Amino acid sequence: MPSICKIIRQRNYTILCSCPIYGALFDLIMVAPFMRRSSIELGWQRAISCSRYRFAFSISSDFKAISRQLSAISSDLSYQRSAVDGQLKLSGGVMKNRFIGCLLGLAIGDALGSRVEGYPTEAVRRPDLGIAEFLDELWHWSQGRWTDDTKMALALAESIVEPGGFNPEYAARKYLEWYESGDWRGIGNITQRSLSRLKEGASWQESGIKEDWAAGNGTAMRVAPIGLLNMNDPGRIEVDARNDAIITHNNHEAINGSFAVAFAIVRLAKGDIDLHRLIPETVDFIHPSEILIRLETAQKLLEEGVTADDALLDLGTGSYVVETVASSFYCFLSSPDSYETAIYHAIRGGNDTDTTAAITGALSGAYLGFEGIPLKWREEVEDAARIERLALQIYDIATGAKP
Ligand SMILES: [Mg+2]
Repeated sequence: MPSICKIIRQRNYTILCSCPIYGALFDLIMVAPFMRRSSIELGWQRAISCSRYRFAFSISSDFKAISRQLSAISSDLSYQRSAVDGQLKLSGGVMKNRFIGCLLGLAIGDALGSRVEGYPTEAVRRPDLGIAEFLDELWHWSQGRWTDDTKMALALAESIVEPGGFNPEYAARKYLEWYESGDWRGIGNITQRSLSRLKEGASWQESGIKEDWAAGNGTAMRVAPIGLLNMNDPGRIEVDARNDAIITHNNHEAINGSFAVAFAIVRLAKGDIDLHRLIPETVDFIHPSEILIRLETAQKLLEEGVTADDALLDLGTGSYVVETVASSFYCFLSSPDSYETAIYHAIRGGNDTDTTAAITGALSGAYLGFEGIPLKWREEVEDAARIERLALQIYDIATGAKP
């Protein structure tokens, strides 16, 4: 049988299907330029993929195996096409763009910030590098690999998607699955203690740490999916974000940190807010707390035109949620039209850089949509396709497109 090579081009996607040896050789030549980030399944059949391009080829004559592989890849492509088509054509497209932007923005900010996590401010502020060079260097080091912030946010997203809505017992189970996997990636102390209690049999209502100092970043950094889920019903944030937070951090500041981030994401994803009103509306939404006071300080500094570098020294960038949430709002609001600049400032704050950049990235991505994030990062970030799929699935649930 002669070589069969079928090339299907659909917008950004190309599928190469070939059968016998001659086709495989041809495909190798075609595929090589796109092999920037590949996952290769060794054996007779191989699939090479990156987030925007997927290819299949084979040097086997096992046509059934080829067919299975292609159909798996094709189904994986279908939601990616819907992401692109959605923002171009379908109703709700702009909103889908923002949902994807929010979760990708979180993951990419986390990955960029991860390489200098824990560095003091003065060690991160390198006068020899501009924004692009600085971020390029961080990306090169990280290779798009993110940390516990994104691990937890995606566990929360899956806990929403699988049952079709937020259920704290289900969320606790997903967090526990992650904990038991051992792939912790910088898990926080409070989170580790609470998940250990879950493992020992505590219920989700009992597992969270209640001490005053349990005001870490572990809830605000993961809460974005709850904001997206409640886009059309922000009143639900109070219940859902609280129930999510107390699984690990049963602390007033941590809970209000979650409220603040989830509420802001709702307002940004809906796209109907004057950015000067984002902090005042957020402050009206949350409860009296240190978070509220620090957000008001951030608003004052923004109105005074203080530089982000100086503002973050005032607001703080440690692992205290009061500092991190206020600084993340500042970084986004001082550079609302540039994802890169907002992230750059978040990381230049030093200390808990991955989390400050993750929350900043979620806010910026929710506002700008995924097109506001550089394509290279969107293509190369770890699990890009899974993140996009989860964002679209949450969109369907939030808008009632799927129960
Ligand atoms: Mg982290």
